[in-house]
Amino acid sequence: MSSFYSEDILEHSKYPSNFGTLEHATCSHEEHNPLCGDRVRIDLMIEGDTVQDIRFSGKGCAISMASASMLTEAIKGQSVAAAHAFSKDDLLELIGIPLQHNPVRLKCALLSLKALKVGLYAAGSVGEE
Ligand code: ZN
Repeated sequence: MSSFYSEDILEHSKYPSNFGTLEHATCSHEEHNPLCGDRVRIDLMIEGDTVQDIRFSGKGCAISMASASMLTEAIKGQSVAAAHAFSKDDLLELIGIPLQHNPVRLKCALLSLKALKVGLYAAGSVGEE
C-alpha cells in the first residue's frame, strides 16, 4: 500500500463509488457523527456468504464521504467473513492520511465502517468462526 490513496480523497468525495441505495437490501444501517454533522447509510445485499452489492448514501465532509466510497470498493464482492474482519486499520490504510492524532477526523473516517459493522450484525450473518 502506498500513499497515492491520500490524493484520491477529493476525487472519491466528488465522484464516489457505489453511491446510492439498494432497493432490496438485506440490511441497511445509518450512523451519524454529531461532531461533524456527517451521516452515512450503508445498504448491503448479502447472498449466501458473499456481499454481492453495497451502496452508501448520506452527506458529510470530504473524509467521511471518501472513506465510505473506499470502504464500499473494498468490501463489494468479498465474503461476509472478510467484511467482518475488515478493520479500522485497514480502512485508515486505504485513506492514507494520518488521523490517529485527530479524534474528530478519525470519527469522520470511521463512520462508514461503523455503519457497515452494525449493519452486518443486524443482518444476522455473523460467521461461524
Ligand atoms: Zn466529518
